[in-house]
Amino acid sequence: QRTSTVTAASLLERVLGLCGDEIARRGVALDVKDASGGALLTVDLDQMAQAFLNLVLNALDAMGEGGGSLFIEIAPPKAGNLSFLFRDTGPGIPPALLERIFDPFMTTKAHGTGLGLATVFAIVEGHGGWIEARNLEGGGALFELTLPVATPAS
Ligand code: ADP
Ligand code: MG
Repeated sequence: QRTSTVTAASLLERVLGLCGDEIARRGVALDVKDASGGALLTVDLDQMAQAFLNLVLNALDAMGEGGGSLFIEIAPPKAGNLSFLFRDTGPGIPPALLERIFDPFMTTKAHGTGLGLATVFAIVEGHGGWIEARNLEGGGALFELTLPVATPAS
């Protein structure tokens, strides 16, 4: 792994630089909230950008042609960890699939690989973090990706 220590906010900015145009092209409203207070993360930037990108592209796929809203929030650090929340206004994850959502080759898409979330899971675990998925009461899916906060010296 080639790691860098960067602010959580700059990591997210990097990802949005890669997919901002696609979000706009799909007519999806993007809402970003950064409550990280400048917290630092030590990450392999290419790997973590790939992980975030997979979550964003899945959200866009879920919302389809009708547009919708994508909310990305960096939560305040808690107990040495920092969470990124990805929330969309799509139909949510089929409840029967929730338990297998991170399994390789689990896809509901005609041309899907089912490898996106398995890759995200592996990347996040490789960074000492974890990821959880759930559906929201008002509809839509929420992915919460949590990473250990870095200390400036690391
Ligand atoms: P793929 O995108 O190739 O299908 P993924 O591993 O990225 O593979 O996703 C697996 C499955 O999880 C998708 O096919 C879809 O059924 C479900 N999924 C992922 N993200 C979302 C989301 N934001 N909303 C609803 N379902 C989702
Ligand atoms: Mg995918």
